[in-house]
Amino acid sequence: MATTPEISLSARAKYEPVIGLEVHVQLLTATKIFCSCSTRFGDPPNSNVCPVCLGLPGALPVLNRKAVEFAVLAALALNCRINETSIFARKNYFYPDLPKGYQISQYDKPLAEHGLIEVKASAATKKIGITRVHLEEDAGKSLHEGFAHSAETTAVDLNRSGVPLIEIVSEPDITSPDEAYEYLARLKEIILYNVSVRPRGQKEFGTKTEVKNVNSFRFIREALEFEIERHIGVIEAGGKITQETRLYNSNEGKTYGMRSKEQAHDYRYFPEPDLLPLVVDAKWQAEIRNTLPELPEARRRRMIADYGISEQDAQVLTVTKSLADQFEMAAKAAKSPKRVANLVQSELMGRLRAKGLGIEQSPVSMQGVAASADLVESGAISGKMLKDLYDLCFERGKDFAAVYEEEGRPEQSRDTSVLEKIIDQTIAANPRQVEQYRAGKKTVAGFFVGQVMKASKGQANPQLVNELVAKKLER
Ligand SMILES: [Zn+2]
Repeated sequence: MATTPEISLSARAKYEPVIGLEVHVQLLTATKIFCSCSTRFGDPPNSNVCPVCLGLPGALPVLNRKAVEFAVLAALALNCRINETSIFARKNYFYPDLPKGYQISQYDKPLAEHGLIEVKASAATKKIGITRVHLEEDAGKSLHEGFAHSAETTAVDLNRSGVPLIEIVSEPDITSPDEAYEYLARLKEIILYNVSVRPRGQKEFGTKTEVKNVNSFRFIREALEFEIERHIGVIEAGGKITQETRLYNSNEGKTYGMRSKEQAHDYRYFPEPDLLPLVVDAKWQAEIRNTLPELPEARRRRMIADYGISEQDAQVLTVTKSLADQFEMAAKAAKSPKRVANLVQSELMGRLRAKGLGIEQSPVSMQGVAASADLVESGAISGKMLKDLYDLCFERGKDFAAVYEEEGRPEQSRDTSVLEKIIDQTIAANPRQVEQYRAGKKTVAGFFVGQVMKASKGQANPQLVNELVAKKLER
């Protein structure tokens, strides 16, 4: 982590960082926000373009309904109030990857406002306000390498021009890099649960300096740490912080001034004359709200109650919606959902940690865990055998079903001599019940199974006891 050692702890203690974050999120619609060009990533440069996203004179934008729906869904999940009427605005600036000379965004009337996210701060939870969520278009991409003459030329790919984005702006409620990290983690989770999106990092802090285009959570934490130290250092030395945009160099762990505020912030916003006000009325809002899935925090609480798992395990199992879905599907299909949850905790997590793997890289899938749970449940394999099979799964990088087959579908030995002895004793001790059974009252078998289970202190495999009791009584 980048630190400037000359800042003393006592100097540090005098200041409280004020951090606000601006996060850009790409909405994964099939087509762009104002034209029908594909948003597909990785196509040949400038192959998904048309007069609208090239910014040719006279071309008119038409708003993509799906982009609005995704944006509203994200805003609802972030507890925002949707403005029934919002206005698109032109943000004017010149850049080679912005052929129109302006970006269509939203300014004083954004799509949504007044949201919040709850984050864990130390022991308590803290509410971080969301100032606004607005819709905008992405710019193209300047390419500096990887093509002929790239040493002396910059090329522009406009495939990304017009891809829909939302910008999520937080209130300056964040007071440490750790809180910023936590906020971003929760934000990502909520958004990914709800909308098809790809986060693009960008953030701003205070009113003093802005650090642009930091694309990983770790770098954001480091850049914030560096900037906090830098601000305190400058102020302690009697200097002043200049309002400016800075870039973070992740190799050096430092930020560098990029351009002065005069150039940076006069965007001369005005309402976009080519687009009508965006109206998302109560009916449409309600329709979109109906498609909002169970949010991660609510899901964790329910899973803890339903499966008796710990909060930490619930956290791991809901790391993505797909994993949580897989777990719940497997658990519900298994004979004992609780056993599936227990196996995840007792057999999977430790092995994953030992190998430094995330649960999504686990060789044993949730279906595999469910299948193994059923085998233990039915008594086909013992707990010890299950452990050995899991070890093999991790050694071979294969799922449970495959390893179970490779090992010849092992079953635990059915050494029944001890059990038979207990059954014989139970039968000898209860002649009246034996008579009833042999006279046709077959349900009495249940009484014997119960007695045998009790005598074995619950150690016997119930399935096996059932079989043996029936066999002996039939004699
Ligand atoms: Zn286009």
